Amino acid sequence: MEKHLQNPIFKVLADIAQTHQIEAYVIGGYVRDIFLKRPSKDIDIVVLGNGIDFAELVGKQLKTKVAVFKNFGTAMIKTRDLEIEFVGARKESYRSDSRKPIVENGTIKDDQLRRDFTINALAISLNKDNYAQLVDPFNGINDLEQKLIRTPLDPELTFSDDPLRMMRAIRFATQLEFSIDESAINAIKTQKERISIVSKERITDELNKIILSKTPSIGFKYLFDTGLLHLVFPQMANLYGVDIINGKGHKDNFYHTLQVLDNICEATDDLWLRWAAILHDIAKPATKRFEEGHGWTFHGHEDKGARMVPQIFNQLKLPLNEKMKLVQKLVQLHLRPIVLAQEVVTDSAVRRLLFDAGEDIESLMMLCNADVTTKNEYKVKKYRNNFELVKQKLKDVEERDKVRNWQPPITGTHIMEVFGLGAGKEVGLIKNSIREAILEGEIKNSYEEALQFMLEKAKEFGLQPVKR
Ligand code: ATP
Repeated sequence: MEKHLQNPIFKVLADIAQTHQIEAYVIGGYVRDIFLKRPSKDIDIVVLGNGIDFAELVGKQLKTKVAVFKNFGTAMIKTRDLEIEFVGARKESYRSDSRKPIVENGTIKDDQLRRDFTINALAISLNKDNYAQLVDPFNGINDLEQKLIRTPLDPELTFSDDPLRMMRAIRFATQLEFSIDESAINAIKTQKERISIVSKERITDELNKIILSKTPSIGFKYLFDTGLLHLVFPQMANLYGVDIINGKGHKDNFYHTLQVLDNICEATDDLWLRWAAILHDIAKPATKRFEEGHGWTFHGHEDKGARMVPQIFNQLKLPLNEKMKLVQKLVQLHLRPIVLAQEVVTDSAVRRLLFDAGEDIESLMMLCNADVTTKNEYKVKKYRNNFELVKQKLKDVEERDKVRNWQPPITGTHIMEVFGLGAGKEVGLIKNSIREAILEGEIKNSYEEALQFMLEKAKEFGLQPVKR
């Protein structure tokens, strides 16, 4: 084990522990990640006694600042490449209405018992008589080998005490591609309502970590199967299911959405594009209709979906800023390239898409590519080829017409000056007609053609340029 404690900091900690006769251990994620061969920069140290006092001794030795969090009984030291957190070994007990435990001093085993999962309860000794030895009372190493998320205590109690652990179980299962022990899954099913005492922010933090994993569908399937998703994100759970009328079904939008999400994850690490994948069909249940002679339709689900985005962001305490706007825009536009790929592509349709998507056209194309989930290889090929054509066309039209970051060649102020108008309806009408003419390809995207067009158009409104 000693080879795992290569960093010279461990010798420093061990010497201090020895000199002051304080038992100290490396614990938690750092130890787990050694065995998973995932280099980690966060070290958690548990001492039998006062964690803050021990941190002060280390700070003195290293001549560095110690950040003390008195309320939590913890302290932190940052070195160039590490963040070390110190805490005293604790024994915890819980009340039913709070995630905050009642804390007493405890042994190393008490401290390991209060940890969420066996793989997170591994410790390595920094003490002289058993330096670098693994302390693993709950067989966490075995669970690491078996790729299993298991709780040290009865999972019902673990999850009831701190219900955030249910989200953490699913998050670790997703990040590490582990399975969750059967009894823990059952405990999530029975304790799921306890999630109501966890803050929305903490839940969303875990959701985002699931979404940022390589294959987020793993987590969402767990969330759905345990019933947690119905509580933390009901709109997504609502996507589940297939209705059949006259022998006609539609695809299950929950599993389709998961496929789109996994697909987009192969193309991008961006959290917000991944959110767009999750939300692209979110209004399908609300817009679902069965039309005789036609089958299932979801007319307007992109508009309604876009309107749902701010509500959902608000409910999940996601930021209500330009990231939300991006997701909203992608949801709104997600059908447009598909429509283009199915039809003969006209220049004006391409110009309109470029105009509406602006800077985000590549992101939109990425979402649309991910949205092709048919199992029919022939159709996949056809759609993807058509997308390539659309992309080429986008490029050609953009090079020629530059509508992607379109600024009107004639501004509202200019219109007011030419016709001696105050701000009002006419100015907007003229501006719109110029934009339409450019998008339709009637005139070029240039000042001269726009000016000429404007003077013609103004006559229809009975306007004359003022003489100067
Ligand atoms: P990561 O850094 O990937 O989130 P981590 O395991 O280091 O993984 P932290 O949230 O930093 O995660 O937690 C550090 C350690 O504290 C965990 O390994 C675990 O032992 C313990 N821990 C964290 N949160 C809880 C909790 N809610 N209940 C019990 N133990 C917890």
